[in-house]
Amino acid sequence: MLILAATPIGNIEDASPRLRRVLAEADAVFAEDTRHARKLLTRLEIDRPTASFHDHSGESGLHGIGKLLDEGRTVVYISDAGMPGINDPGYELVRLARDRDAEVDVIPGPCAAINALVLSGLPTHHFCFLGFFPTTVEKRAAMIERLRLLNMTAVFFEGPSRIVHALEWLSETIPQTQIAVCRELTKRHQQVLCGTPGEVREALEMVKGEFCLVIGPVRESSNNADIGSRYKALLDRGESPTRAVKQLSKELRLPKREVYAMVHDIYKNDDSS
Ligand code: SAM
Repeated sequence: MLILAATPIGNIEDASPRLRRVLAEADAVFAEDTRHARKLLTRLEIDRPTASFHDHSGESGLHGIGKLLDEGRTVVYISDAGMPGINDPGYELVRLARDRDAEVDVIPGPCAAINALVLSGLPTHHFCFLGFFPTTVEKRAAMIERLRLLNMTAVFFEGPSRIVHALEWLSETIPQTQIAVCRELTKRHQQVLCGTPGEVREALEMVKGEFCLVIGPVRESSNNADIGSRYKALLDRGESPTRAVKQLSKELRLPKREVYAMVHDIYKNDDSS
């Protein structure tokens, strides 16, 4: 039998009695990060060896776990923290077990993305989870286009070294959309900041720890006035007009000459007023 067990994302009190029992009774415990797993087992006073299974374990990793399942053993998989299967190779294990007719179960528990979604206060009847927030402007722009079509709340993971840049980008791209940044969920210094990207950027003082970013439904369209203010913001940040047009053309996936014509029109109108 394969059991995917959710583990605390920062607060040991979130370890359920069922999690403790399942870990204590497992024939084998596989973990995305064995160092984290060892710490968790020690804190839960469970003496069980752990083995590693992660994104790069490949066929040999799957083969070893498959063999244990074929022998009728109970294999427990825990991720770095939180719900296994969300942004880790847990789903591959589920498929492996199903292919071998082994039973599969999930021990419910903490999940950073779901905590963040609920704490955000943004609409939850429809939502999507899109993994880590994209790092390049092209991918970010494509993602915002997708969100415009989906018209629902979206949850992302984000790292401390990128959160400020992500917020600055969002405040130029979708300045009126409601968002939330959730830091250090379930931990002593948990923080939830809500508002427009500009407001949240302003309020975010501590950029250490783990972050989830939640973006509410995007209804803003890229009209000429938006593009004008984004162009101006880039110039204010020290970009040359050529580089500003180049960046906007990448973000908006529009030919440079079109962006140039839009900003040119706006500034021409400004001059004539
Ligand atoms: N499977 C995990 C889950 O269900 O929460 C998520 C693992 S994912 C690889 C790691 C990312 O989750 C971190 O980079 C961060 O964005 C987010 N995360 C994990 N713990 C968090 C916490 N306590 N507070 C905020 N975000 C957290």
